[in-house]
Formats: sequence, structure tokens, C-alpha cells
Amino acid sequence: MISRRKFIQASAVTSLLTAIQAKANVLSLNTKKTVQPIVISTWDFGAAANAEAFKILSAGGRALDAVEAGVKITEADPNVESVGYGGNPDRDGHVTLDASIMDEFSNIGSVACLENIMHPISVARLVMEKTPHVFLAGEGALKFALDNGFEKTNMLSPKAEANWKKWLEETKYMPKVDYNSHDTIGMLALDVHGNISGACTTSGRAYKMHGRIGDSPIIGAGLFVDNEIGGATSTGMGEEVIRICGSYLVVELMRQGYSPMQACKAAVERMVKKSPSKKEDVSAGFIALNKKGEYGSFSVYKGYQIAVHSTKEQGIVKDIQYLK
Ligand code: ASP
Repeated sequence: MISRRKFIQASAVTSLLTAIQAKANVLSLNTKKTVQPIVISTWDFGAAANAEAFKILSAGGRALDAVEAGVKITEADPNVESVGYGGNPDRDGHVTLDASIMDEFSNIGSVACLENIMHPISVARLVMEKTPHVFLAGEGALKFALDNGFEKTNMLSPKAEANWKKWLEETKYMPKVDYNSHDTIGMLALDVHGNISGACTTSGRAYKMHGRIGDSPIIGAGLFVDNEIGGATSTGMGEEVIRICGSYLVVELMRQGYSPMQACKAAVERMVKKSPSKKEDVSAGFIALNKKGEYGSFSVYKGYQIAVHSTKEQGIVKDIQYLK
């Protein structure tokens, strides 16, 4: 039988070991490496969106929440003529919106040709989280949004309406496409937990045919995330990006060891090479972010800009490399 003295000695040793273990746990918690968060997005209007997203990232929040909150800023900005409210309508005067979102678990949600809703990105997130589907379009997407508490809003701003009326006079409703009047916000974020998510939202090409859907809501084309590797998103002529599954291609090239910039460049080269029309106006660009927080971008033409926000840098990168 264990003596009282031995029992006390054994208890003291156990307590000491427990204390040492507890201290070690605290130390290991304190030294657990957190990742430096970063958010990147397309175009100069991405700066305001990034700032909003970074508030969430710097507070330790999830990349998914950051990208949704970030692009909502652009969706509500009447001065951005290619996203959300203030976006240019189709040739019949309808502002039809496309959006997609993808998280670190490869959950996906998209809406396309959605009208009269201020924040299509939030509807896309709801499709992802609350339905057994991944993609809703048109009337069905609108009904789903209204059933879930979104309000109907007139998305045609007075300025966009005036521009459209002018366009009607000039083109006489010819099925001509304006290759210049388009720009999407695509956003990628890496959070302190090392997880990547992405969001993409647009009103698409100005004066497009009614019912036209671009690359932005198509997972793999306008947006793709693989949390083991990184993410990519695009802006520009959706028809050309869809043809090469652009964002998926960029992520797969990063998987093979390409840097984010090299992967975007290779995708742009593939897109131009594969375009059957070989038109001079094949114009698009990609941005990419990898698990290490390294980012890169490449576009067909000079003049493309991206916005970056981390603890080290905040602002607009104007010297994006280009093909032509
Ligand atoms: N990619 C978008 C679309 O084709 C528009 C853009 O980014 O310029 O709808």
C-alpha cells in the first residue's frame, strides 16, 4: 500500500508535471504562427473595397467575410459604371448583375442575370450557404433573394440611364458590342488563419444582349480558389475568359509551381492564342494570390491596375505587366 508520504510526493510530482505541461501549452499557443493577411482586387476602385475587407482580416476574421464586405462597397458605389448600382445596363435598359463567391472549403455560390438587387454577392453567398444548389439565374435568383429578405431596388442610376439613351441614339440599337465599357471587381483575400476566399461581381459588358452572362459568375472562369494553392479572378471580356476556364487555369499553373504573375501571364497568352476571332480587342486581365501571400497580375493591354492591401502595402499598383 502506498504510504501517505509517498502519496504526497507523487501528487506533488504530478502537479509539477501538469503545471509544466500547462505552461508549454500556453507557450505553444503564444508562438503559434499566424499568417500576415492580405487582400487584392481588380482596378483602382478596388482600393476602397480592400480597405473594408482588411478591417475584417486585421481583426482576425474570415477571408470569406472580408471579400463579401469588400466588394459590397463597390456594388453600392454609383460612380463605378460596371458593378452593381450605377452599372451600365444591357441594350434593353436592364441592369443585369452577375456575381460569384468561393470559400476555403471549396463551397461555391453564384447568381447571374439578377435584376433589382443592390448586393448580388450576398445573394451568391446565400445560394452557397442555404440551398442545395450552386448557381441561380434570372427570375429564380430574384425570387430567392426577395424570399430571403433582400429588397427590390432600381439599379439604373440616372447617369447610367442617360449614357444608355445616348448609346441608343448613336448605335440605333445595332447589336454592336462596346469592348471598352466593362470592368469587374474581383477580390481575393488571405486571412490570419491562412485561408483564402474570393468574390467577383459585375454588371457585365455595357449594352450587352439581354440575357448575356459573362465569366464573373462562372466558377473556374471568373473566379477560382483552391485553399491548398491559392486563388485567381479576372476582369475583361468574359467570352474569352470562359473559353480557357481562365481562373481555374491560373490556379492550376500555380499548383505546378508558377508564381502568381507567371500563371496570370501564361493564362493571358493562352487566351489570346485560343481566341478564334484573333481580334485586336481581346482584352482581359487576371489577378492571383497564393498561400504564401504572394500576388501577381497580368493583362493583355497596358493600363490595367490592381489594388493591394496588407500591413506592408496599401494602394494601387499601376505598372501591371502586359502582352501588347
Ligand atoms: N468580365 C466581365 C464580363 O465579361 C466584365 C469585365 O470585367 O469587364 O461580364
